[in-house]
Amino acid sequence: MIRVQDLRKSFGTLTVIDGLNFEVKKGEKLALIGPSGSGKTTILRILMTLETISGGRIEVAGEPLYHMQKNGAEVPANEAHLHKMRRHIGMVFQHFNLFPHKTVLQNITLAPMLTKGESRANADKRAGELLEMVGLSDKAGHMPSQLSGGQKQRVAIARALALNPEIMLFDEVTSALDPELVEEVLIVMKRLASETDMTMLLVTHEMSFASDFADRVLFFDKGKIVESGPPEQIFKNPQEERTRTFLRKII
Ligand code: ADP
Repeated sequence: MIRVQDLRKSFGTLTVIDGLNFEVKKGEKLALIGPSGSGKTTILRILMTLETISGGRIEVAGEPLYHMQKNGAEVPANEAHLHKMRRHIGMVFQHFNLFPHKTVLQNITLAPMLTKGESRANADKRAGELLEMVGLSDKAGHMPSQLSGGQKQRVAIARALALNPEIMLFDEVTSALDPELVEEVLIVMKRLASETDMTMLLVTHEMSFASDFADRVLFFDKGKIVESGPPEQIFKNPQEERTRTFLRKII
């Protein structure tokens, strides 16, 4: 579903991602862990086409994300291509990013109506199903300011799902929440992971959640993958000293 080859990303003189290679199979649930500043969020933002790349190649569903072949040369993808590729992917952000002046229902129906030309009736019906799935059927008419952080994040998840992406990216979705609100969001995500065959990439500091959620864990440091493997290996029997040091600090 995703193939990343020799990916490089710099911000000015700062190299954030330095020759990264990994693949994600359809339906796989992947957790990205590692120290702050190691490039995890940047990877998700690149996949979401919110950042350009400095080098390398990314394929999503078999097609290059950023660059298209033209007469043998790589050229930056045009806006129409990016628009098409974005349809494969949905993203949930740390700070929810809901539209503050729209109701919960409008937050969910806006994109399907604008970008896919769905009828209001269809968009409302689908939004109703999604709100039920995230346990917020009674909040459809509320404004985001009337919701708790955990509820806002569940609306943000429903909103991303409304476009039926094949890939979902979750960027530290619980780190802006009060501790007592974390669980309700994790429950929704666990249900999503077990009940759908969506491909999911998750950046998180919640190691027990990463362990429950993921088929495979990538441990990053300084823009490179230090170690990857099933959660049992990474959390119980890490092979690399850098992974052990990180886990000792965080757990
Ligand atoms: P992580 O998610 O692992 O904490 P990030 O991907 O957020 O790491 O950031 C990696 C590095 O890139 C950090 O040093 C961060 O300061 C830097 N960085 C991220 N975005 C930008 C930007 N837009 N401009 C400059 N530096 C950035």
